[in-house]
Amino acid sequence: MLGQFVYDRLEEAAQFSQSGPGVTRLFLSPEHKQVATLIRDWMTQAGLHTEIDAAGNIIGRDAKAQQGAPTLIMGSHQDTVVCGGKYDGMLGVALPIAVIGDLYNRNIDLPFGIEIVAFGDEEGTRFQSTLVGSRALAGTFDPKALDATDDHGISVRAALRDFGCDPDAIAPLKRDRKNTLGFLEIHIEQGPVLESRDLPVGIVTALTGIERHRVLIKGKASHAGTTPMDKRQDALLAAADIIHKVNQVCHETEGMVGVVGKIEVSPNAVNVIPDTVDLTIELRAPERTVRLNGRGAILSSLGTIAQNRTVAITADKTYEAEGVPCANWMMNGLEAAIGKQGLAPLRLFSGAGHDGLAMHDLCDIGMLFVRCKDGLSHHPDEAITAADADIAAHVLAEYLQNLARFCPKLAK
Ligand SMILES: [Zn+2]
Repeated sequence: MLGQFVYDRLEEAAQFSQSGPGVTRLFLSPEHKQVATLIRDWMTQAGLHTEIDAAGNIIGRDAKAQQGAPTLIMGSHQDTVVCGGKYDGMLGVALPIAVIGDLYNRNIDLPFGIEIVAFGDEEGTRFQSTLVGSRALAGTFDPKALDATDDHGISVRAALRDFGCDPDAIAPLKRDRKNTLGFLEIHIEQGPVLESRDLPVGIVTALTGIERHRVLIKGKASHAGTTPMDKRQDALLAAADIIHKVNQVCHETEGMVGVVGKIEVSPNAVNVIPDTVDLTIELRAPERTVRLNGRGAILSSLGTIAQNRTVAITADKTYEAEGVPCANWMMNGLEAAIGKQGLAPLRLFSGAGHDGLAMHDLCDIGMLFVRCKDGLSHHPDEAITAADADIAAHVLAEYLQNLARFCPKLAK
């Protein structure tokens, strides 16, 4: 069973980790180096030519890709968060390698090239920068990211050199747009939807857009015992109103989630009315208009809240990244392959970011989610089953063999 084969390989890869619960494997770390040897070994066994590129990506290409044929890129990331799991990232590396190896073993020829990538850095755990590898392939890598440093003051540039990579040779890694058919990632869902629907796999429709705001509330500190209730300018009460408003709007808006995840209160004393609150609002939605409408509903309420609580409220947008849609032809191909397994082809959006965010600048993207236990990820207890991995492998094999029917660049 291919699923068990993949499952066992993921167990093996998980050994390359810092000590402690779960898997901790950071970008350009000794564990990254060790797992690279293992992954290259898997790729070689599958009949792929391997290399580690200038950005620290582990690359495997078949003969057609080597010769410049139109190529489908598959893959995911090798890195993890601190005390993460065995499947976030590595599933999307191990599974396509196993499927390609199996197709070769059965003498099944694909009419296009295959490239499988284990991206070095998606989680951004070690350095502040993320998506170094996928940005390099997409041609959007900003050399300024080489100056980012880790907790020990080691820059990305120095770490790359230490790893045996040439940071000045990243720009030429950009793939040829015309020749790239698309990017497909297999990834655990990191959420509970598939489990709740009793489905092993699902089709991702889009990677979510994200925006963050910093909200500053200024009230007036005064004695908590002597200030009458109707004379207070309590910044924390206004914050409570905002938190409820964010929650309410997100509940009422289909396809958007959001949170007030960080809050600082001053003076934060037991007997003083809070005069300053600094909080964050984060909103996520795959559809831009949904996110903008949701943002509008929240921000337009701030004036009323300020008035009701006799405080001043300012809000500044600190971050905004557009959502990225998956290509229809890739979703349709996955849908057909899932249907062939006798399963319902559920479509769902990804609330997390992935390498596809960067790869979308190069080519069409598609993504297959695999059910994970309790929707848990970024945790040592992250789990999938060999049976689900097997279904995902069958879906992928079917998808690849029918790619020409769906892919516009191959249809020409
Ligand atoms: Zn991931």
